[in-house]
Amino acid sequence: MKQYDIFVDSVWGPSGTGEYFDSENPFTGKAWAKIPRCDANDVDRAVKAAYAAYDKGPWAEMTATGRGALLRKLGDLIAENAELLADTEVTDNGKLKAEMYGQMQYLPQWFYYFGGLADKVEGANIPIDKPGFFNFTQYEPLGVVAVITPWNSPLLLACWKIAPALAAGNTIVVKPSEFTSASMLEFAKLVDRAGFPKGVFNVVTGFGQDVGSALVEHPKVARIAFTGGEIGGVKVYEAAARGLKPVSLELGGKSPNIVFADANIDNAVRGAVAGIFAATGQTCMAGSRLLVHESIHDEFVEKLLALAKTAKMGNPLQSDTTVGPVTTRPQFEKVLSYIDIAKSEGAKCVLGGEAAKRAECGDGWFVEPTVFTNVTNDMRIAQEEVFGPVLSIIKFSTDEQAVEIANDVMYGLAAGVWTQDISRALTMAKRIRAGTLWVNAYRVVSYMTPFGGYKRSGIGRENGQEMIKEYLQVKSVWINTNKEIPNPFVLG
Ligand code: NAD
Repeated sequence: MKQYDIFVDSVWGPSGTGEYFDSENPFTGKAWAKIPRCDANDVDRAVKAAYAAYDKGPWAEMTATGRGALLRKLGDLIAENAELLADTEVTDNGKLKAEMYGQMQYLPQWFYYFGGLADKVEGANIPIDKPGFFNFTQYEPLGVVAVITPWNSPLLLACWKIAPALAAGNTIVVKPSEFTSASMLEFAKLVDRAGFPKGVFNVVTGFGQDVGSALVEHPKVARIAFTGGEIGGVKVYEAAARGLKPVSLELGGKSPNIVFADANIDNAVRGAVAGIFAATGQTCMAGSRLLVHESIHDEFVEKLLALAKTAKMGNPLQSDTTVGPVTTRPQFEKVLSYIDIAKSEGAKCVLGGEAAKRAECGDGWFVEPTVFTNVTNDMRIAQEEVFGPVLSIIKFSTDEQAVEIANDVMYGLAAGVWTQDISRALTMAKRIRAGTLWVNAYRVVSYMTPFGGYKRSGIGRENGQEMIKEYLQVKSVWINTNKEIPNPFVLG
């Protein structure tokens, strides 16, 4: 078994507790790596190291241009090591090698983009209204940023936070998911090799309730960037409120993928299948509610099932596998329990509906790609996030009804609409309450454009130019050029 160290103050070593926990491979169901089990003392050490690096020394004194160059160097190292990072993620979270390798090859772009932005944030010279005064603004880093991430796309979601936060001059303490910590520790080796000054980047591993909460509550943490589920998100938000800390929360979704009668059906079928079965449905933006116009419903379902049935389940490291295992054992059980809930609610299971028993799936945590029809939007299967390969199909008859169903959910992360009619597409873009809307596409993201949720899908955005300012604070500097300060006790 592989044994990992944590990275604190630019030193590799065990946690202070000397304890480890196992990371399991979802394909084999067996432990493959030992991860240090940190506690609040390790968190304290990491935050203090990060604070010292932010406060003074080479990082604090480095020019923004210098920081940008370091970020770009890190981007190059990620590109060179994309295969190793992808293999680590696949072993840890069971997602397909093809997807994770693609993600790792794309990941350097965050460091090139935000590295480029680092020295383009400019303060202003304010034409101040006070005679004899000169006033300007300057942007400064916030300090230590706590980065807390889930298990589904461990490095991608962490780098959405790390790249802009470092570009802005902050320092970082990351707490990856206890289910998928290995890739972040491999990533830290690249940060180390890139030559970031001591203490700028730190990784502590362990569980949410002790390590995660100690991190968000640490008084020297200035900002929290969290992606995860609602329960953890609410706790983090409460802790942030107590500490009066800015926080961004990227939470869950129950995103509608809407197919209108005028859609290109074959394309929409592919988009619907990719929207729910890619990544085994374990993405926050999964198109888990498929709204289909009644006039094309039966034809659409038939074509969708035909494509879904071609799913090849098995070893996620194999290039021809198209649906991998569920990442964690508790998640596997949760997905199966939602399938039972859907059946008991009266939804009709037209595909899958059970744990996969295919020989290629071995002892892994596999769930058959599952499709329910006859779903109504009030059912739990239509309202709650399953985070697995389970699709709920809901019929609609008018555009107005499609909008109502799409918005009648507590989440608002993303939505897809399939139509050839531009005015309908633009109307939907306006009326659907979600942070991202795709027309004739699903599940596309970029470092250049904001991503985040309306309603209970979260607070704040990630990606895009404005993001760098989310990791900065502005200072107003006043300079009095008057030769004499008037006597404060002489009015007028
Ligand atoms: P989770 O909330 O259980 O865990 C996320 C992280 O938070 C982990 O590192 C965990 O250890 C930590 N954590 C848990 N409780 C904490 C606490 N009290 N204080 C501090 N940290 C704590 O989520 P998960 O099961 O790992 O991930 C799945 C969830 O993530 C899904 O709901 C999914 O929708 C969401 N997600 C959202 C996005 C997005 O961009 N909106 C992206 C991916 C995943």
